[in-house]
Amino acid sequence: MDLTLILGPMKSGKSYELISFFAPLSYTNLKFGLYQSARNVRDSFVISRNGAKLNAKKIASLHEILDDDVEVVGIDEIHMFEEGDIKAIEEMLKKNIKVIISGLDTDYQGKLFNTIAKLMELAPKEIRYRRAVCDVCKSPEAIYTQVFAGDKVITSGMPSVIPDDGTYTYSVACRKCFVKGEN
Ligand SMILES: [Zn+2]
Repeated sequence: MDLTLILGPMKSGKSYELISFFAPLSYTNLKFGLYQSARNVRDSFVISRNGAKLNAKKIASLHEILDDDVEVVGIDEIHMFEEGDIKAIEEMLKKNIKVIISGLDTDYQGKLFNTIAKLMELAPKEIRYRRAVCDVCKSPEAIYTQVFAGDKVITSGMPSVIPDDGTYTYSVACRKCFVKGEN
């Protein structure tokens, strides 16, 4: 059916928007499923910074969703999946499944994730770009996620999906405050 993308940096309320959409569905007759990457080792919920949360099924590949009997699919942190997985989204849309996806659009260098580029090729019905409050200048215009090792900004030499296991810390930055990758 149709595809909706909720994109933006960390701390921009993407997960909250996903939760807000899915929470009322439990009162309907619709068959729905909420999913997140098995690479997320922190929790088994889609969890928002304001405390709202919903149970999510952990999957290693988006193709696993095709085995489920669902009419509405939500996927959190899409950037944690592989580029090749996006084929599964195309299959879902052909099967008239409504798909709502949230995730980071750009990596630590400010570059578009390949997974997001592939999603754009599927012609989403709606893309909601969210912004956060810049951790540097406090403007409400943060669009990038900045990654640190200790107090050092990382601008190169990392995989685009950086593990969120506590090794690195993150902040969000606006266009003016973001330190961009070199290559
Ligand atoms: Zn700023």
